[in-house]
Amino acid sequence: MRHRTILIAMSIAVLLTSITGCARTISDPILTSAVRHLTNYRFDARTPLADRAVDAPAFIVTYLNKMDGVSNYTPYTLSVSERARFARCCSMLPPLNDRVLTERLLAVYFISNFAGGGMADFVFDARTNIHSFIVFNPLILNADMADWIAYREGGAFIPDGTNRLVVECSAKQGALFFLLLHESTHVVDYVRTITPYVEPDLVPITGKRASRFTNGVWADYRKPLPACDIPGRTNFRAYGMGGARLAASHMRPMYEALSGTPFVSLYASKLWVEDIADTVSFHHMKKLGIRTKFRIESNKSVVFTFSPDDVPLSEDRAGVVSQFY
Ligand SMILES: [Zn+2]
Repeated sequence: MRHRTILIAMSIAVLLTSITGCARTISDPILTSAVRHLTNYRFDARTPLADRAVDAPAFIVTYLNKMDGVSNYTPYTLSVSERARFARCCSMLPPLNDRVLTERLLAVYFISNFAGGGMADFVFDARTNIHSFIVFNPLILNADMADWIAYREGGAFIPDGTNRLVVECSAKQGALFFLLLHESTHVVDYVRTITPYVEPDLVPITGKRASRFTNGVWADYRKPLPACDIPGRTNFRAYGMGGARLAASHMRPMYEALSGTPFVSLYASKLWVEDIADTVSFHHMKKLGIRTKFRIESNKSVVFTFSPDDVPLSEDRAGVVSQFY
């Protein structure tokens, strides 16, 4: 699901006072959180990915509650069958995701009541090499992938009995796989800087403002170039989080506009990091033979269809995506 703008928790003890990056020094507020320091995690790169799904420690739960201003986030423990499903999803990732996760993924935490589907966050070692952990909402364990994608995109529109978004996948698959693809691609992006930076806080580390993936598409982190923009885009709230803001009557014109851009979903047009995460996710599903189609229905008639599988990749983007294999 979603990459999340990180609010830096300020109250946890400072473990290191400064970390110097390849070029510059990261600002102190980022380092003030225990969450950012590798020394606070148990990590062994030989641990199979599926075994990295562990109960979240207290400092992570505190951090997540504070980040979203809630108090009801609690660790969720996977059942034996859920862990087997998670292991199967881990075995189906693109080779680059598998490689980077093996080297840098500290943990996967399932958190009950978590808002949205998931997120990936960053952690530093003593030399500012980025590691990561992933958080998932346990609801994705039993949700259907097509239904979840429809919920993620369609939730942005205020239901009024007219247009409705239906997503169809050619093979039955759980939402967990899509979310793992998406979040693991954020981890790859953190580590390999496919986009110039995953979080604005990381500019001092990456030192990049442009990349092969974003060139010709993005003016900035959250702003596509005018030719790639979509009217109403800034009112897109995934899952309707914070309250849906788009009239259902805008659904068709927005997907029509989307079909003229390089974006594979409205979600991908939010930020350049969501663009790479969804581009790789849909591309990989297509490679696995899972075709996806978005259908806008009005009074039970299909009024518009869009497929992320039909969005052409520019030469630059095709080159970037090919690095995942
Ligand atoms: Zn995301």
